[in-house]
Amino acid sequence: MLSLISKIIAPHSCIFCNTEGRTVCDGCFSQHITPRTQACVWCNRLDDTGRTCRSCRRHTPLLRLTTLLRLDEASERLIYALKYHGNREIAALLGRRLAQEIPDDVELITFVPSDGPALRRRGYNQAELIARTVSDELGVPIRPTLLRLRHTPQVGQSRQRRIEQTKGNFMIGGGALAGRRICIIDDVVTTGATLGECARVLRAAGVRSVSAATLARK
Ligand SMILES: [Zn+2]
Ligand SMILES: [Zn+2]
Repeated sequence: MLSLISKIIAPHSCIFCNTEGRTVCDGCFSQHITPRTQACVWCNRLDDTGRTCRSCRRHTPLLRLTTLLRLDEASERLIYALKYHGNREIAALLGRRLAQEIPDDVELITFVPSDGPALRRRGYNQAELIARTVSDELGVPIRPTLLRLRHTPQVGQSRQRRIEQTKGNFMIGGGALAGRRICIIDDVVTTGATLGECARVLRAAGVRSVSAATLARK
């Protein structure tokens, strides 16, 4: 466990094979990391661009979800290192790859805001770091559009329960948004309740369409 932790903390070696260089070497990336097939955020029906099915649109205001990786042991290790071990290089490494998957109709990039205590503890919001890389790669502006009012623990809850609990967690943070096509960035999507609630708030502020992009999904 200690050696695992020291590998994760060591800034310039591969967390899988310990080779000096980057956080994940190219060999380990292709060997351990599984791309995620794009699919509807609600029912998981396969779709090339991750569009929400017409029949699922009544359940979620998200137009589309783009995901880079399948959430498994290997990708969880990367995301854990990003969130809890200060390994910001992962946001750049995976953010660049995620940007390549995002359709080119996006006009503004935003991100799921952290709650205050998590932000103070970490000193950064991993979703924002990923979003900044995506924005740079795509040449699309980024803006913090949302404020988090509270954080509700979601572990182990059903999707319906999570959707109910997430209501009222966010508000618009200011600036004119009407008419834009916005993409919200987050690290991981599970039920889609958080992204759905962010999308609902943005749509209520007049945003034309809201899609999302995440590093990983089950
Ligand atoms: Zn390696
Ligand atoms: Zn669907």
